[in-house]
Amino acid sequence: MTFAYLRPDSLPDALRALAEPSTVALGGGTDLLVWIEEGLAAPATLVDVRNLPGAAEITVGADGAMRIGAGVRIATLAEHPAVREHFPVLADAARSVGTPALRNMGTLGGNLGQRPRCWYLRRGVRCFKNGGTACAAVDGEHHYHGIIPGGTCHAVHPSDPAVALEALDAHIEIVAANGVSRRVTVEALFSGAAANPAAELTLAQGELITAIEIPAAARDGVQHWEKLMQRGAWDFALVSCAAVRRADGAVRIALGGVGAAPWRVSLSVEEDVASGGLDEESLDALAERALYDAEPLAQNAYKVTMARAALRRAMRRLIATA
Ligand SMILES: Cc1cc2nc3c(=O)[nH]c(=O)nc-3n(C[C@H](O)[C@H](O)[C@H](O)COP(=O)(O)OP(=O)(O)OC[C@H]3O[C@@H](n4cnc5c(N)ncnc54)[C@H](O)[C@@H]3O)c2cc1C
Repeated sequence: MTFAYLRPDSLPDALRALAEPSTVALGGGTDLLVWIEEGLAAPATLVDVRNLPGAAEITVGADGAMRIGAGVRIATLAEHPAVREHFPVLADAARSVGTPALRNMGTLGGNLGQRPRCWYLRRGVRCFKNGGTACAAVDGEHHYHGIIPGGTCHAVHPSDPAVALEALDAHIEIVAANGVSRRVTVEALFSGAAANPAAELTLAQGELITAIEIPAAARDGVQHWEKLMQRGAWDFALVSCAAVRRADGAVRIALGGVGAAPWRVSLSVEEDVASGGLDEESLDALAERALYDAEPLAQNAYKVTMARAALRRAMRRLIATA
């Protein structure tokens, strides 16, 4: 396995390099290099994006919005004072990622770009994402797969920070090879992840995530993160929940581990939580309603129970301090 390694220090140089065929962005390499080593990809060139201007910076604008460079390490995100103070749900989600070594190497851009942990996909089984027509997990082993249908593939996306970013209404800044940038929501970034055989993100060839922006409206308020794992540490989420009651009273709740992308509960559930006046019976009913569209496979109905329980705890936390 051989590839060229480039470490440009200007965005135009990086974009020029990424416009070439068989060229991909490299963050910390904690997923991409494993993927290459296991023969699942063979790019000709890796473009290390950590040295680009602003890539490793976290800045807060005059209006209070936060901009996080795509090359910011997960460990930095977990410990940064302004992230901890104003967006604790994101800091807690980052802190729950893997191990200290992974958090020190992994970047936020790479964390969003990492591929699912589905063993069929990673072992080269001819599943939907490996050139086949059907998801191998459906008739196979699928304890850890999704319960929210989104397409042929049933793998879940492993990013914890993405779930928090969804609840914070974050936008992703993407720059194309011609230098033109666009901003998309987390939902749009992952749109069609389960139906796309080649990737989970809606990035065109040569496009680069340069930054993640969190609006000032999502600062402070009440923020809650919970990650349910099989082991106490160094594990992916079976189910995770990011919940935010913003200073303006609006509520956002997203679940991880349930689908091919962070999954936001319906607006009507969020609005009912925001209205308050909920007793335990109403919380049970809301948690039930939120998971109404879940379609578990034979071995993972336990995730529906877990997700309902996580939602009840999140909603209790949001209304306790209302
Ligand atoms: C044992 C283990 C446990 C883990 N546990 C967790 C966990 O609990 N929670 C969790 O969230 N993650 C977990 N991870 C994933 C880990 O956090 C990711 O490997 C890491 O975040 C990827 O970041 P990276 O910078 O190393 O990405 P890379 O490996 O460098 O890149 C990953 C992908 O993203 C693309 N990419 C990188 N940067 C950009 C960019 N700026 N724009 C566009 N595309 C880009 C690359 O081309 C590649 O396709 C775990 C990983 C391992 C190995």
